Amino acid sequence: MIGNVRVGVRTRQWAGLCLGVLTCITAQTASAADCPGHPDALGTSRTLVVDPREHPRIGTMQYSETLPLEDHEVVLTFDDGPLPHNSNQVLDILASQCVKATFFTIGRMAQAYPEGVRKLRDAGHSIGAHTQNHPLSMNRMPVERARQEIDDGIASVKAALGDDAALAPFFRIPGLSRAEGVEDYLASQGIQTWSSDFLADDWRHISSSRVYDLAMKRLEEKGRGILLLHDIQARTVAALPRILHELKARGYRIVHVVPATSEQPATPTEPQQWQLHPPSETVAISHWPKIPNFVFAAADTLPAPSLSDSDWHDGQLVPPAEPFDRAGRVARGVPLPREAPWPRQSPHALDGAAIALPVPAQSIFEIQEKPRAAPQGLAPSSHHAEQTVPTGRETDGLARLISADAGDSRRMIPGSLPLVEPGLQRVPVGAR
Ligand SMILES: [Zn+2]
Repeated sequence: MIGNVRVGVRTRQWAGLCLGVLTCITAQTASAADCPGHPDALGTSRTLVVDPREHPRIGTMQYSETLPLEDHEVVLTFDDGPLPHNSNQVLDILASQCVKATFFTIGRMAQAYPEGVRKLRDAGHSIGAHTQNHPLSMNRMPVERARQEIDDGIASVKAALGDDAALAPFFRIPGLSRAEGVEDYLASQGIQTWSSDFLADDWRHISSSRVYDLAMKRLEEKGRGILLLHDIQARTVAALPRILHELKARGYRIVHVVPATSEQPATPTEPQQWQLHPPSETVAISHWPKIPNFVFAAADTLPAPSLSDSDWHDGQLVPPAEPFDRAGRVARGVPLPREAPWPRQSPHALDGAAIALPVPAQSIFEIQEKPRAAPQGLAPSSHHAEQTVPTGRETDGLARLISADAGDSRRMIPGSLPLVEPGLQRVPVGAR
């Protein structure tokens, strides 16, 4: 708690020094080496204070704006916690490097582990919300229900914190399943919707080494940005020390993002600093995983198509030539590709091409990169098979995440939430 207060005071002092962008960066960089007992720590190079009302949607994976980062600046984000064992390890690793991050917590998780949310606050991290039940259908559900998910999630996290001000007005939509109605509601509440700039696929059945490789590869391709990770994943815990070490070795700097308040004004920035990076820097999108066919056998709704390089022309999203031509493909006797049926949200995606990209393929959050032999007792398409799943009391709390909306919840966890029920093994995705 003391540490948290000290961080807050220091942040305000630095904010007060921000007479101009350059001056602000220089002043805040001075705090990077302030990591007692860890002289070689990566540290947190500066605190970026943002006003959600001025920039309500950020993240180049889906929006035209992202955080105004300098080259080689990185913002770490962790979704879906807190889950005691793994989240605590993530906290320890970050503390050892004096790195501050943003955690997007789930309401039900906060209810189950309120002390875990308070640990985030006490460690000086930013805390955002991530719905109450983590549905992957925010882009399809009635807006009133989406609002309920948002409101309930925020209320749960605030209750865990016991201090409304400790929750930042930051929000990440589960599965990045964006919808304008959802974003508009969030904006009306003064809440900033966070997409991401790149992923590390840490919800998938890949090794921690692969998580590290993807994180660094995609960061190198962009040179800066918001990295989306999951603090509840064991593979992320295993990959994180190496990621932080390599960030330091390659000259990257960590930026901690906090919301503006009456006492803490937004860091001065220029509008162009928030703009989408040139299309050539969006290559990470094209590296989203291919979707194995087996996934769709169990899916009620087909996912949005993944973007490819050919979708980009001068920064605008151009409708692909083929997917709409289903009839033509059938007439020619060519089997339809699995992703051919355009998702329901396509009008939004096209109408809003200048400001927002479509929802990423939903199943990229659900599946492993390559089909493999199922763990004993699990169907081939089950996910979350790594050692992330806790046992005993932790499992009881997680089980409640499987809400009454079983149709969605059985598939709703972006690779992150273990699908378990009390006393049972994980629920295969196709078994409902
Ligand atoms: Zn999530």
